[in-house]
Parts: sequence; structure tokens; C-alpha cells
Amino acid sequence: MIKYDTHIHTYPFSQDSHQRVEELMKINNHHPYGMILTEHMDYNYSGSDIKFEFNPKEYFASYLPYRNDRFLLGVEMGLQMDNLDSVKRTVDSYPFDMVIGAIHCVNGDIAFPDYYNNKSKQEAYSRYLDTMLSCIERYHDFDTLAHIDYMCRYATYDDPELHVCDHRLALEAIFNFIIDHDICLEINTRRLGTENGYQTMNEILRLYHFLGGRYVTVGSDAHYVENVSMNFDKADCLIRAYNFIPVYFKERKRME
Ligand SMILES: [Zn+2]
Ligand SMILES: [Zn+2]
Repeated sequence: MIKYDTHIHTYPFSQDSHQRVEELMKINNHHPYGMILTEHMDYNYSGSDIKFEFNPKEYFASYLPYRNDRFLLGVEMGLQMDNLDSVKRTVDSYPFDMVIGAIHCVNGDIAFPDYYNNKSKQEAYSRYLDTMLSCIERYHDFDTLAHIDYMCRYATYDDPELHVCDHRLALEAIFNFIIDHDICLEINTRRLGTENGYQTMNEILRLYHFLGGRYVTVGSDAHYVENVSMNFDKADCLIRAYNFIPVYFKERKRME
């Protein structure tokens, strides 16, 4: 049973979010799922004027009073080959409940069309997955691997979906690595409301399951309060189909 929405952003700690912690607290008590805040921390980010970094001291000072059994404090760490020392320093220094590892940048933010403009889809997606593997081989003290279908949100190709058949070896290497290192795979629910998004995650999860993956986290990646826990019914279908165990993290410990 899914117990937590494990991927939520609030303003101002995530500068691109449009919800405040007070709005979440209003619904937290009667919401069907607990919530874990996972603010953006993308050291060495380049790509837009927004700074995806926050001061962890201020974060804990502001939000610790809200922390309770249904409301936990995590972080979404943007991993890049040149920021892993900073990531490690912060993860080691602060009492996050949960750490998400995410790839947002491959020589710049892949949310922008520039990344895709001069590349074939095969090349763009291969570079994204290769970067992911290189980063996590170098740094893997995190709890779950975020939104593996991230670039499908933004890619400018006619068919932006990430097909397992086009990238099987790269995906196998990533999944074998996280399974060996006891890292979960996130089911990011943002794209599950569309048939294509759902089918893409279905294909990807089939491979994860085939390789021995059992644990998943489920996160909406909400930046607006109305998106908290969106499409969790769809995530539930995928979890049942593969008998996954949905988990969350509290004080960095895996909880069912
Ligand atoms: Zn992200
Ligand atoms: Zn996020």
C-alpha cells in the first residue's frame, strides 16, 4: 500500500514551486497519504536564472516545527559529475529523512530544447542515461532514483517516450547498479495520466522487476498543491502488476 507522496516541492526553498508549506499543512491531516518534502538542490546548475539551491540550515529551522509522522523533510539532489563532492557534504551534514537522486542536467538543463536541438533522439537519450550511470557509480548515498522518464516531459521529438528496446543495455546497467546498492526506483506520477506516459513507465518497470527490483517510491513531484498525490491510483496499478513494495524513508531508513 502506498503510504507517502515522497516527492514534493515548496516555495521558497524550491524556487520553481508555487505552493507554500502552510497550504500543505492545511490538507496534511485528512490527506490519504503522508508527505515528504524534497526541495531542489542542484549545485553547479546552469540553464536558467532560477537558482535551484537552498540553505539547509534555514530549511530545517523553518520546517522542523511542521515535521511529524505524516510530514517528513527530504531533499532532491541534482547529480552532476562536477558537483558530487558538494552533494556528499550536504547529505552528510544535515538530518534529511529522505534523499532523492536526480539527473536534471547533461551539460546544461535538459528541460530546455537546446539540449535536443542538435541531437538525434537516440543520442540525446543515450547521453542522459550514460550520465546517470556515471553519476550514480561515483555517488550513491541516496535512497531512490528520481523520474527516469524525466526528459520525456521536455524532449522535442515527435515521439518523446523512452522505449526500453532502444536503451535496454543502459537501463539494465542502471537498474543492476541500484538494485545492488539497495537504492529504490521512483515511480514519478506526473506523466501517468497519459496513456503514453503510463505505458512508458510500465515498460521500464517491467525491466526493473525482471532484473530483481522490488522496492519503489511513489512521488508526484508536485509544485502546486492540487497536484499532490496526482495519479496515485495509476501508480497503484503498476505496483500491483509487478508486486512491488512501495516504501518511504524516515531518518534515511526504509519504511514500508
Ligand atoms: Zn527532479
Ligand atoms: Zn522534483
